[in-house]
Amino acid sequence: MYFFSNEEKEKLTGFFLPKSREMQVSEDLRGWNWTRPPLEPMYDINLTISEVSSRYCPNGRDLFLRRVAGLKLPPNEVMVSGNFFHSILSDFVIISKKSIFVFGNNLNSLTKELQSTIPLILERNLKKVESPFLRKTLEEKGRAILDYELRSLCYRFQETISRQPNIGADSLVFQVLPVVVEQKVDGSRLGLSPFLSCDAFYSFEPVIIDLKFGSKRDFHILGPAGYALVFESLFSFPVNLCCLVYVSFLQDQLKIEKEFHLISDEVRMRFIEERDEKMRMVYEEIDPGVPNECSRYCQYLSQCQPGRIFEDR
Ligand code: SF4
Repeated sequence: MYFFSNEEKEKLTGFFLPKSREMQVSEDLRGWNWTRPPLEPMYDINLTISEVSSRYCPNGRDLFLRRVAGLKLPPNEVMVSGNFFHSILSDFVIISKKSIFVFGNNLNSLTKELQSTIPLILERNLKKVESPFLRKTLEEKGRAILDYELRSLCYRFQETISRQPNIGADSLVFQVLPVVVEQKVDGSRLGLSPFLSCDAFYSFEPVIIDLKFGSKRDFHILGPAGYALVFESLFSFPVNLCCLVYVSFLQDQLKIEKEFHLISDEVRMRFIEERDEKMRMVYEEIDPGVPNECSRYCQYLSQCQPGRIFEDR
């Protein structure tokens, strides 16, 4: 998921990076200007990035129920699955980095080590899944994802050491796995949670990577836009690009699509408007009401529309 193919690298370096460097971003919409409007938060409330960016409930009533009505429900299967996939991928990257430090440029030892670690990563994360049926499905899908990651890592590893046979472990780690996973950042300057966690941050050139395990939605760009603002507010360097990675299974066949996007003024403003609207909803305790259509995966269906069945959105 975190490895770009040659085609993707060409797209990134030949098109998106030059575009992102040319792109004009209004100074008012750079995260480092968090002390003045429109970035300055209007209310003393901290939201998570997903609370701001999620539009699965078109009215945001899920946020109202959770933050105002205090209704905290256990995660449903879609959420448990998403957490599981994020967690195994993050574990895999961390263990791979540690193993490269131990085995250096010895690919055989590294491969053996990681092959033996995959079942342990799965086992550790499956312990958090209660439903036996879901555990079985997640185990199979998780194995497919990690096998794919291992093959990608070995390819990237081989490519790197063939170019630089005398490379040291530190440089090797940086070149093979140039991502920081689950980067913890403090979003409080922008009215966001002080304990945010970004899926991955590509470190050659600032690119926010966001993994998605469901179908594509137009609001998915808002999460990375929020992280770009937070990184800019903390570190004062520009973040102009993101990559949405869509992972799905078609008849057990793993499908991965990567979409690069520029973090333009328009998406920055969309994120800020969502933040302001949702902060106001929480601060003024406004119930936004029930929309015409709800997702059949929403965990609040029984509260909002007991007894009714809705189309998937
Ligand atoms: S059930 Fe419908 S209204 Fe209630 S939170 Fe979910 S999507 Fe929103």
